[in-house]
Amino acid sequence: MTSYPNTTLFIDGSWCEATGGRTLPVIDPATEETIGTVAHASREDLDRALAAADKGFAVWSNTGAFDRYKLMRKAAGLLRERADAIAAMMTAEQGKPLGQAKAETLGGADTIDWFAEEARRTYGQVIPSRAPGVTQMTIKVPVGPVAAFTPWNFPINQVVRKLCAALATGCSIIVKGPEETPASPAELIRCFVDAGIPDGVVNLVYGTPAEISEYLIPHPVIRKISFTGSTPVGKQLAALAGLHMKRATMELGGHAPVLVFDDADIDKAVSMMATHKYRNAGQVCVSPTRFLVQEAVADRFVEGFVEASKATKVGNGMDEGVAMGPLANERRIPTMEAMIQDAVDHGAKLETGGHRIGNKGYFFEPTVLTDVPTSARVMNEEPFGPLAVINRFDDAESALEEANRLDFGLAAYAFTGSSSTAHKLRSRVQAGMLTINHLGLALPEVPFGGIRDSGYGTEGGSDATEAYLDTRLVTQMD
Ligand code: NAD
Repeated sequence: MTSYPNTTLFIDGSWCEATGGRTLPVIDPATEETIGTVAHASREDLDRALAAADKGFAVWSNTGAFDRYKLMRKAAGLLRERADAIAAMMTAEQGKPLGQAKAETLGGADTIDWFAEEARRTYGQVIPSRAPGVTQMTIKVPVGPVAAFTPWNFPINQVVRKLCAALATGCSIIVKGPEETPASPAELIRCFVDAGIPDGVVNLVYGTPAEISEYLIPHPVIRKISFTGSTPVGKQLAALAGLHMKRATMELGGHAPVLVFDDADIDKAVSMMATHKYRNAGQVCVSPTRFLVQEAVADRFVEGFVEASKATKVGNGMDEGVAMGPLANERRIPTMEAMIQDAVDHGAKLETGGHRIGNKGYFFEPTVLTDVPTSARVMNEEPFGPLAVINRFDDAESALEEANRLDFGLAAYAFTGSSSTAHKLRSRVQAGMLTINHLGLALPEVPFGGIRDSGYGTEGGSDATEAYLDTRLVTQMD
């Protein structure tokens, strides 16, 4: 394996230690060993990053779209070349199996390519005028320096979407990266540095998240905020952004329902959903969580899902054949245990799993609970772990009522052989994303985002760059 590096800040074109030299340890969640450090930015470092982003914005917003596109494509190429080494760092710091880490890294390159192309398509409009000799048009201008806050579950994917939307549109950016998983996102940034990004356009800091967001969001240099993380933190940051009239994109928590109808291909639903549930140990905002299965096929679904859960190989993500690594940090273990105990106390049946595995590394059993009452915590809070809840329903109306019961509205899944049921779900499921009979989420070219408590704005598809652009009307008489 590539040796794990210590991660520094990147400010104004230079990799640098934090002023004062403060660092935080980075822990391998599979071994609990400290494998490196990450620099902890001071206020002085943040001031330097702000000044750099301000200067970088002046340069980058005046760089032609075609040049931005070329540089981004070059960075994508470098990321592909370096994917093996970067994936190994990601597995060491985050825990996910090496294959998943590599797929995320290569997916990051595809995302860069997508946004690079979008850089060339920030079209305005020419609007027919009322008077002869008047030309009315809109042009798209970059909103300004961006502050982006990204979590530890997808160290590259969470950064690359924000970074590339900013760079495509001519914005500069300060990324506050994830302290638990700092090296792989730093390597992503390095690809842009080596591709020739001008000084100040991209800056990377780590530190104490609340201190950094409280300083950057109100700061006059910053014009746009993008945050991925939990709903409570997202609400605080959105409120702060609102107070200072900053544009914001919020990609927050979810509690995805999965509706399985009795006319569906049950074997396909089981195998697809079990794999998807345990991907990244369930620490995914779109992870399938509340399985709602129609009565006639419920026993078969539970049996198949439990079997698939037991067969999921848990271990160090570096090892061959491992399908699920450890939880990414220690605090997820008591959270999982408490949620499971609470569900059992409320009358749920624990079908499999429910416990930590061993006492070294944050490994947890793939867990299935059935017949869980809606009063249990897990039916209302995002478990963010390898935990599936399977309940039953009689008819589509009661399934829809349960699917839409929570304030979350991120992803939803459905399996049905009926096109009229699928049609009904399309209009009635309250979620930002609905995927029916297959897994089709999170591609760069499709929207990615939620509604209600899951946030606002999209981080994919052709709308994603809009959040980083202002529309300027120019009306001119000859
Ligand atoms: P947390 O709420 O403490 O932190 C979640 C993320 O927000 C982290 O990346 C953290 O660094 C950041 N954060 C926290 N407070 C912040 C602040 N004041 N300013 C800026 N950033 C801040 O929780 P956690 O223990 O790290 O993760 C558990 C919960 O977070 C999960 O239950 C899940 O809901 C949520 N989460 C969601 C995603 C996602 O992809 N939407 C990713 C990671 C975590």
